[in-house]
Amino acid sequence: MFDYMPWWDEETRQFADEVEAFVDAELVPRTQAMLEQNKDPMTIQWDASKLCVEKGFHPLMVLAEEEFGGRDKGYAGYTILNEEIGRSNINVNPLLTSVFGAGPIHLFGTKKQKEKFLKPIVKGEKWASITVTEPDVGNDAAGIQLGAEQDGDEWVLNGWKRYITLGCLSDYHLVYANSDPDMRSLYRHLTAFIVPRETPGITTEKVNELIGDVEMANSVLRYKDVRVPKENMILDPGDGWTVMTSALNIERLGIASVVGSTKNLLETARAYGRRRVQFGLPISRYNGVQLRMSNISMKMHLTRVYIYYLAHLLDTGEADMFTFAIKSSTAKIFGTQSLTENALDALFIVGGDGYLQETGIGGILKNGALMQIAGGSNDILKLFIGRQEFKQDVDERMINPSVRGPTKEEADQL
Ligand SMILES: Cc1cc2nc3c(=O)[nH]c(=O)nc-3n(C[C@H](O)[C@H](O)[C@H](O)COP(=O)(O)OP(=O)(O)OC[C@H]3O[C@@H](n4cnc5c(N)ncnc54)[C@H](O)[C@@H]3O)c2cc1C
Repeated sequence: MFDYMPWWDEETRQFADEVEAFVDAELVPRTQAMLEQNKDPMTIQWDASKLCVEKGFHPLMVLAEEEFGGRDKGYAGYTILNEEIGRSNINVNPLLTSVFGAGPIHLFGTKKQKEKFLKPIVKGEKWASITVTEPDVGNDAAGIQLGAEQDGDEWVLNGWKRYITLGCLSDYHLVYANSDPDMRSLYRHLTAFIVPRETPGITTEKVNELIGDVEMANSVLRYKDVRVPKENMILDPGDGWTVMTSALNIERLGIASVVGSTKNLLETARAYGRRRVQFGLPISRYNGVQLRMSNISMKMHLTRVYIYYLAHLLDTGEADMFTFAIKSSTAKIFGTQSLTENALDALFIVGGDGYLQETGIGGILKNGALMQIAGGSNDILKLFIGRQEFKQDVDERMINPSVRGPTKEEADQL
């Protein structure tokens, strides 16, 4: 029985039941079949993603408005789906990557851009990647070097991106480029573009071998004289930082929904704790084991309430974007750090069996570690929160999408 939030309306509750039934009927049996073959269920990412699309459970489809092929279930629906998929222990990163790649179009695209690019991604006919990271640019995303120069009605992109999930497979890259290095101190130097992957000049230089997320074609990409029509620009030149920080807020809420995997850990540890007898008693009777269970349970409940509260703020339009940046970072840090700690607690409850592929804990542990890095490392996000608490050293533009710096013309007057 799904644990509803008290403020949900009847439609949201029904949707939660619908998602739960889908996960139980379609995903859980696939997980069990994989574990019985001693395989990690997180490695059937494409099959599971295509199944979700077919059944109407693509997170972007759930979030997007009906006019663009979506189901308009809001951020509550989006979070419910992410949480429930997590519970199944299957990782659908092709879908999540497309949400993150298409997020800026969903948030800021023109009607024409939404018709052309968003709709097929919503329907799962096309896939999108988000391209921020570069060889010399990680957490310091404002340092993006891939350059964009305007040439008539086109922009010309030159540079590199790395670690791009689905980079060599997706249909569209959401590229953040440096269009005006002089405007960096004002955070008006970046511009966001929708770039079809097959545009001449884009080459895949390498596909990384990962320890998890193995089907995700994690790519190093080169852009050489890649010409993009100006209609593919999101908002205006210089708005890239606003676009990126806004989209990252939504990405971080999505990442925090990995709390669904904790439900899975709890079930695994509970079943083992009841079944396993040592020193004459089921191990669930021992305080040490109960303390580990309570760690998992407390973090799961706290994360759930917080992510659904954030979804509610977005759905009701009550999210103030500056404080929301802090809140979405808090959710992402707490949720992903908890997931890693919970996976270790579950593993130690299950003991040696926890180290076997057949319990599925190993895949969750690896995913927890990745989620602490992706979407901005937890340590860096903690620095934002700490500085904000001391009201120190925070240039609001660094994290506040609603504070737009001056345009070039305005800056010249300063
Ligand atoms: C599997 C995988 C998939 C990915 N997919 C994508 C994708 O699709 N698109 C994309 O754009 N990127 C993607 N990334 C990249 C990811 O977003 C980056 O790895 C992340 O932003 C961190 O950057 P970095 O790895 O370069 O670390 P760095 O920024 O080099 O940081 C390294 C370490 O130094 C610490 N550090 C850095 N600066 C400071 C400081 N000032 N104070 C304290 N500590 C500091 C960090 O916390 C971190 O621990 C992916 C990465 C992986 C591993």
